[in-house]
Amino acid sequence: MNNINFEKKILLSKYTTIKVGGFAEYFSKPNNKGEFINLIKWSHFNNQECRIIGAGSNLLINNIFLKGLTICTKTMRSIKINSNTGIVEAEAGALLPTISNMLAKNGLQGGEWTVGIPGTVGGAICMNAGSGKFSLDQNLLSVQVINTKTLETYEIQKKDIDFQYRYSPFQQNNLIIISAKLLFEPKGNIQKLLETTKNNLKKKKETQPYDLPSFGSVFKNPINNYAGKLIEELGLKGFKIGDAEISTKHGNFIVNNSSANSQEILDLITVIQQKVLQKKGIFLQPEVRMMGFDYP
Ligand SMILES: Cc1cc2nc3c(=O)[nH]c(=O)nc-3n(C[C@H](O)[C@H](O)[C@H](O)COP(=O)(O)OP(=O)(O)OC[C@H]3O[C@@H](n4cnc5c(N)ncnc54)[C@H](O)[C@@H]3O)c2cc1C
Repeated sequence: MNNINFEKKILLSKYTTIKVGGFAEYFSKPNNKGEFINLIKWSHFNNQECRIIGAGSNLLINNIFLKGLTICTKTMRSIKINSNTGIVEAEAGALLPTISNMLAKNGLQGGEWTVGIPGTVGGAICMNAGSGKFSLDQNLLSVQVINTKTLETYEIQKKDIDFQYRYSPFQQNNLIIISAKLLFEPKGNIQKLLETTKNNLKKKKETQPYDLPSFGSVFKNPINNYAGKLIEELGLKGFKIGDAEISTKHGNFIVNNSSANSQEILDLITVIQQKVLQKKGIFLQPEVRMMGFDYP
């Protein structure tokens, strides 16, 4: 098998936005689809567990030694935009803010909300990332995937994927996203799109702690409620365990003040869940994905 390039014993905290995570036994950053597929095949034929990290912006990785291969897709980021049809073809590692700015410059409408989400296309489809009434499944046409058990690669149409609020089957199945086709509305007013995109980012920075390491919203919003509001009502903003703190700016964010570790963050998540359940009778389900934990 050609093009197998990986490093050994790499610290994953460098690859998560909250700056937490242990060592990966094997680690690789493929530059294109071919290298990506070969790495997945290598892990299959060598009986190694294979984990995928995009931008690591919705991930809590345990501070342990993670056996097997960890692949970070961020270097696999080709984006092709057709400004006439509105179709965008992006490799799994393409970043949403890059796509958002490119959409505006090409007069494509409907992706202005994605600018403040610092994730990759693969991660955002897996998480069904969204903002307000928007979510990425609304713009999705199809995904190209590889099955880690059979090693087949094929395309799945959006209608055949059961997307829900911050959920996709890719969180549980054996499929890894290689690339995606998205659809936006062509022939929009470029000046207006650039302005909306810029304002959306400004608004997010005003209301969320973009200046500190975090992994975005910790919990999914319960039906007809907001996790951040429930946490704030209990006076938990600013509550700390070690260097992990519930953001004083937004109740649904945990920030790493300097050297927080995964246990402190997990303990903080548990404390919030217990307090909200006791006082409000609501169980907050984590949105953040756990890696290297025995977590359901
Ligand atoms: C400051 C900040 C603001 C944020 N704002 C928002 C927001 O407004 N809305 C929102 O929805 N989220 C938000 N997030 C969370 C996060 O950015 C999104 O969930 C994003 O889509 C995650 O993408 P990622 O590439 O970082 O995925 P990662 O965190 O790297 O991974 C998340 C999950 O996706 C899986 N995955 C990654 N790539 C693939 C692939 N190619 N194939 C299959 N599975 C894959 C991983 O294994 C993991 O289970 C925010 C985060 C931060 C730090």
